[in-house]
Amino acid sequence: MLAVVPPPVTVRVPAKINLHLSVGDTRDDGFHELTTIFHALSLSDEVTIAATEEPGIEVHGEGAKSVPTGEDNLAWRAMKALASYAGKSEEDTRVRLVLRKGIPVAGGLAGGSADAAATLVGLSALWKLEISRDELARIAASIGSDVPFALYGGTALGTGRGEQLVPVLSRPVFHWVLAFDERGLSTPKVYGELDRLRADGDPPRVGSHAPVVEALASGDPRQLALLLGNDLQAAAVSLRPGLRRTLRAGVNAGALAGTVSGSGPTCAFLCEGAESALEVAAELAGAGVCRTVRVAHGPVPGAKVVGGEDAN
Ligand code: ATP
Repeated sequence: MLAVVPPPVTVRVPAKINLHLSVGDTRDDGFHELTTIFHALSLSDEVTIAATEEPGIEVHGEGAKSVPTGEDNLAWRAMKALASYAGKSEEDTRVRLVLRKGIPVAGGLAGGSADAAATLVGLSALWKLEISRDELARIAASIGSDVPFALYGGTALGTGRGEQLVPVLSRPVFHWVLAFDERGLSTPKVYGELDRLRADGDPPRVGSHAPVVEALASGDPRQLALLLGNDLQAAAVSLRPGLRRTLRAGVNAGALAGTVSGSGPTCAFLCEGAESALEVAAELAGAGVCRTVRVAHGPVPGAKVVGGEDAN
């Protein structure tokens, strides 16, 4: 009997920024205790998954050359984790993953984690697994701290390593401009720099996340702009001093406020509205302080099938 080959599945998955990122002490397992507010943006990657006789990974788009195409690609690790959860044989797991990257690599926007989340959702559809998002989130957390959020999207409070999530009510839409830097920044190096800065002195820490939650519920970008904060920003700026100029240029161009996202180096600028975001983007693009700019809005949903049988 001929085996029926399922049609390929395509999943779109958002980038995240951190509206608030408080970095606590280092835990016994080496991770820092985090309190963060994730916000999913309309900037996205797409992952297409197909059953094939030639398994492997192809990467196209933004920063494709610096993305590993072997077993250390986070999307491949997600495939392995789901295969093991579902008890799939080596033969069943012959899949080809095609990654179309819109999210810059090592940009502090969790692009690799996004691809892992997309792979979990896409493979669940391809293999017709009856598996809830919450169950997928448990597998996601075993791959990386930012992977569960990419499954849910929206706006969420993350604690622990960032993997324990509670949704946060966020009214209308917020408009952002993103400034991509020439090169990425290594997340472990940025945490290392923060440890060094803290050993040498006492860099200021962001306050409580509670006012940020209130500002999100109010939907007022001016209120939210006053509260954006990231404990990793000082470390990212220390390693990449040019970011100070980028942050200033965004505000000079008319943004309400700017922040380094996660471990950087991408800077996210909150704008008054859609029109203002376009104006800020145009002016920032001409200021010569970054490689490229993008406008985006948030919050948007998490990883979602957009092509193949299950798309609707
Ligand atoms: P983090 O989530 O650690 O803050 P980031 O958002 O700054 O990371 P990513 O784009 O997720 O950055 O990539 C971090 C590193 O992970 C890259 O330098 C790359 O070597 C590796 N990597 C593994 N899989 C992927 C993937 N699918 N896409 C991008 N990078 C990947």
